[in-house]
Amino acid sequence: MAGLVDQFGRIHTDLRISVTDRCNFRCQYCMPSEGMTWLDRSDLLSFEEIGRVARILVERAGVKSIRLTGGEPTVRARLSQLVASLSELDVDLSMTTNGATLPLLADDLRSAGLKRINISLDTLDRQRFIDLTRRDELEPVLEGIDAAVAAGFDPVKVNAVLMRGINSDEIIPFLEMGRDKGVTVRFIEFMPLDAQGEWSEDTVVGYDEILAVVSDNFEFDPVERGSSPAERFIYRDGSGEFGIIASVSEPFCDSCDRIRLTADGQLRNCLFALDHVDLRSLLRGGADDDTILAAVAGEVDRKWAGHAIGQVHFLRPSKSMSQLGG
Ligand code: SAM
Ligand code: SF4
Repeated sequence: MAGLVDQFGRIHTDLRISVTDRCNFRCQYCMPSEGMTWLDRSDLLSFEEIGRVARILVERAGVKSIRLTGGEPTVRARLSQLVASLSELDVDLSMTTNGATLPLLADDLRSAGLKRINISLDTLDRQRFIDLTRRDELEPVLEGIDAAVAAGFDPVKVNAVLMRGINSDEIIPFLEMGRDKGVTVRFIEFMPLDAQGEWSEDTVVGYDEILAVVSDNFEFDPVERGSSPAERFIYRDGSGEFGIIASVSEPFCDSCDRIRLTADGQLRNCLFALDHVDLRSLLRGGADDDTILAAVAGEVDRKWAGHAIGQVHFLRPSKSMSQLGG
């Protein structure tokens, strides 16, 4: 098979796997404070089912990277067992986490074969952290960043979603934290998937604005971008790098290589997709590998050109970011 190619010729090699829809946080922009109904345990794909889909897509469809996500992936019991089995595949295995459980889990995950880790953190101010996440857990997250570095993850990336009037004054403190801890900070533009529906174009702190603030404070040079959605910059003084992911102001849809598997087994070809193929029914209905592969390939083939944020025909998906995996 030539790989997972869509109708526009884009080849898909990056698989995001959500292992749970649950989370120990309630980030404002991601899920409502109350009223979330969690999937039943029986609705979640088992580790065996996840492993089977991953193996088919790595061995037969050219998938080269797998990122575990959620909800919060580390709240899924025995996550390191899944990591250990996925790490046997020839794949770049990484995880996105809110970081709060890393002081406990970083070593185990590393030993199980996880290679890279992204930690989401949107403010360095305790009260803002409480307001944003509805949890008083800034300290464990900062300790989690240190634990990830100490466990040998390289690189450790810290992703901050910037929102005007909420944390847009923290660009420089974030970069200083990154330089201090030896981690790469990446700023992500706020996307209209927030649970409260408070997103508007005015709340997005865009690429040019971020770069202008950084330019006033640090000297840096751009790095060749490659296939990463992040624009990367390296400090001239040798103290590492930072990045900007401009998913709204400069969408990378033209070179998108991502597909997503939700915790309940929906294969989605885009974060903003309104449709999906139900792999769980296939897996539980006795489908063979060829059938599963064909279902994924069909869904990828149908992928649309781009997310159309800011255009009249843009439609928000009905699921929250926590259910889609970010
Ligand atoms: N719980 C994990 C975490 O927070 O990293 C993984 C799941 S979370 C849904 C994945 C990513 O989505 C996080 O980096 C989070 O900041 C990001 N995210 C959630 N809602 C967002 C939004 N409306 N715009 C941009 N990024 C968002
Ligand atoms: Fe949980 Fe991550 Fe969503 Fe925050 S962004 S509520 S940590 S899933």
